[in-house]
Amino acid sequence: MEKKKISIDKSACIGCGCCAGTYPEDIAIGADGLAESVTGVAEEDVASVCPVGAISVEE
Ligand code: SF4
Repeated sequence: MEKKKISIDKSACIGCGCCAGTYPEDIAIGADGLAESVTGVAEEDVASVCPVGAISVEE
């Protein structure tokens, strides 16, 4: 699947770890316990793993 540029809204993130667990090469859980982008990109369906809609994918 094609990777696309993503952004993560830390104010919405609840730190569940679903995104980092599913896409560990592109997303990590930071020292603050919230998700952060490692590469700036991720598989285009990444937003679907977040239960609170904190990940947006640029078209
Ligand atoms: S899936 Fe969403 S709420 Fe869970 S850690 Fe990732 S960005 Fe945060």
